[in-house]
Amino acid sequence: MNDTKHKIAIVGFGKIARDQHVPSIAGEPAFDFAAAVSRNATAEGVDNFDTLEALFANRPDIGCVALCTPPQVRFDMAAAAINAGKHVLLEKPPGSTLAEIDTLIALAEKKGVVLFATWHSRYAAAVEPAKAWLKDKTIEKVEIVWREDVRRWHPGQAWIWEPGGLGVFDPAINGLSILTAILPDPIHVTRANLEFPENCQTPIAAQVDFTDARGTPVKADFDWRQTGPQTWDIVVSTREGEIALSMGGSRMAIDGVEKIAEPDREYAGIYAHFAELLESGTSLVDASPLRHVADAMMLGRRTIVEAFYD
Ligand code: NAP
Repeated sequence: MNDTKHKIAIVGFGKIARDQHVPSIAGEPAFDFAAAVSRNATAEGVDNFDTLEALFANRPDIGCVALCTPPQVRFDMAAAAINAGKHVLLEKPPGSTLAEIDTLIALAEKKGVVLFATWHSRYAAAVEPAKAWLKDKTIEKVEIVWREDVRRWHPGQAWIWEPGGLGVFDPAINGLSILTAILPDPIHVTRANLEFPENCQTPIAAQVDFTDARGTPVKADFDWRQTGPQTWDIVVSTREGEIALSMGGSRMAIDGVEKIAEPDREYAGIYAHFAELLESGTSLVDASPLRHVADAMMLGRRTIVEAFYD
């Protein structure tokens, strides 16, 4: 093992930890996957612990943790890790409230550790090129459609339907993380309709309107009931032409002409960026996608729809 690598522990060994974090850490030379913290699961080939405290006590050599737990339990774990002097990578969303994120930012600064709130969709291939293309354009209209099958992406997960679990905003926030990265000007929510299954604490669908200082219409359609092909599209109409991102930002077309179509390497991008942040000792936390979700929840009209059963 190369001693210059950052030893990292994954905390919360669920779907995203297995699907993305383990292979992406393995593919990033700056990191060494050294341990897992899980109440139930066991990661192969590394030390496994039941609690963060056991990790800190037994493996003081591990300097970084990737928190892959649901947002409702993320704050206490992040605060414990920062207080133990660990650098912390947060899965999206960075927390279950906005204020707790500010608390973590202040704590990380005080303790001199790196806090990295990740938004995986921002590492999709078309995001930076779209941002560059839109920089000097006059935007006339934006449409975002994020429709996916909750049973495919969150099988058997109860936390998504509990307070703080975000419901359909769990995937929708990925689209919002792209939108907030590529639009040259800030937007804000003006109206929202939230569809709550009668047996759930979080919405299964939402239609959200935004605008900006120029009154540009921005319409969002988020739905977790789509079976078959999934839809992750953003179309920005400008005076100078139309840019369309599809497949979650891995494809980009300008005026109907395909410019980018690349395979998903989002989590590889996350870990390459984390290595850079550790090198420079810089934290990176942008809560703006979560702020839009909070505003939609604050302004949203609530509609009760058919009960959801997994
Ligand atoms: P998951 O499969 O339910 O895994 C979460 C893990 O967190 C659980 O396996 C559990 O692991 C641990 N955990 C600790 N305290 C918990 C608690 N009180 N309640 C429930 N679990 C607890 O969820 P996931 O899909 O990996 O999502 C985790 C995070 O990744 C979420 O913030 C989500 O938005 C994000 N994410 C998910 C996807 C996706 O496609 N599913 C994609 C991108 C990002 P132990 O049994 O190991 O303790």
